[in-house]
Amino acid sequence: MDLSKLEKLEKLRMEIRQFAREELLPYEQEVETNNQIPEHILAQMRERGYFGLTIPREYGGKGMGKMEFCTVEEELAKTHFAFMDIISLNNGLGSRSIVLDGSQEQKQKYLPRLASGEWISAFTLTEPNAGSDAASITTTAEKKGDVYILNGMKHFITNAPIADVFIVIAVTDPELGPKGGISAFIVEKDFPGISIGNVHQSMGMHGSHKSEVIFKDTPVPVQNLIGTEGRGLAVALKTVDEGRMGVAATSVGMATRLLDMAVEFAQSQEFNKKSLAKYQSVEWLLADMATELYAARTMLYKTAEKMDKKEDAQLEVAMCKLYGSEMVGRVVEKAMEVFGQQGCLYQNVVERILRDARILRIFEGTAEIHRIIIGRKLLKGQRPS
Ligand SMILES: Cc1cc2nc3c(=O)[nH]c(=O)nc-3n(C[C@H](O)[C@H](O)[C@H](O)COP(=O)(O)OP(=O)(O)OC[C@H]3O[C@@H](n4cnc5c(N)ncnc54)[C@H](O)[C@@H]3O)c2cc1C
Repeated sequence: MDLSKLEKLEKLRMEIRQFAREELLPYEQEVETNNQIPEHILAQMRERGYFGLTIPREYGGKGMGKMEFCTVEEELAKTHFAFMDIISLNNGLGSRSIVLDGSQEQKQKYLPRLASGEWISAFTLTEPNAGSDAASITTTAEKKGDVYILNGMKHFITNAPIADVFIVIAVTDPELGPKGGISAFIVEKDFPGISIGNVHQSMGMHGSHKSEVIFKDTPVPVQNLIGTEGRGLAVALKTVDEGRMGVAATSVGMATRLLDMAVEFAQSQEFNKKSLAKYQSVEWLLADMATELYAARTMLYKTAEKMDKKEDAQLEVAMCKLYGSEMVGRVVEKAMEVFGQQGCLYQNVVERILRDARILRIFEGTAEIHRIIIGRKLLKGQRPS
């Protein structure tokens, strides 16, 4: 990679790191306890243009590539997960399908509002009977004149309770199903017949809101169909890589924080009048944490670079998501070992990351599904490059 690009990335990393340390870290416990990001922080994020980092410049964003955005996600994830998550939706799953497949009219109407953070977006695919098997969704979009009528229920939708706009994947032709019968739509929260159902309270990822979304005879103008009818699953899957890289970058950010905390703790604590850092068992824990982190980080940026070159990187993206999310699980376990009883106290960041990190193996495709994706690609002759 050329040196000027590296310098630019380093400058960006320092800028985000400073913001995260000075403005976000002091509020991480408040977010954890109150389950909410304070409004003044969201205002600062809007002011700095963080909601539109990946959105093209002509629509009010900053037009960042994958390496840059992974850098941002990694640095934000060193604070509280919720700070990273709110930024990641508008820049990824919540806008990418419009950027890639939207009409000129859709881009002009929605992207500037998403880029400025005036509107918050949500990506609504999962249903109670359609998680890993996204093709079995049953929410319908029936065309009637110049509108599609939406009926059905989605659940576990991040940002849903605060979203202004939803990317909705629904069945337009039940007979064709996944083979050309699923379409993607832009749905505004004020369209009639939309309601928020149960809000899911989860073991981790506080401050990031997830809920059911119910559509009852919701009319969606035909102009809000993304791309062509029947291509919804393809539209969704094209954008899903964004979310997967976000999970990998988050895993790296969380693991980096854990490693730094574990080193500092080991150096500052004594056991039997001997520094904890002088025990070989602790050195080995730190060594394993750092080695796995290095591997995940190297994979992440190598893959991001490939994506920036517009090369097919689906295999590597799946590997980054799988390895990163499992890696941070192992790293947090080891951090717990180093911290001992301190690690299991509420308000200890290790305890919080233990809960947050476990969920990284579930969403954006479970670990099992990623093994299937990777295995199938390998059997078709693909190899990571
Ligand atoms: C915090 C959080 C936020 C989320 N945000 C969103 C969002 O914004 N938008 C959205 O659309 N969805 C969202 N989801 C849903 C998420 O994408 C799903 O949870 C995920 O796809 C897995 O689906 P499931 O939970 O229904 O599990 P299931 O698909 O029911 O799977 C259950 C278990 O069976 C395994 N399994 C399933 N199929 C196979 C197979 N073929 N072979 C082997 N094992 C298999 C799985 O790996 C898993 O271990 C979110 C979920 C969470 C937890």
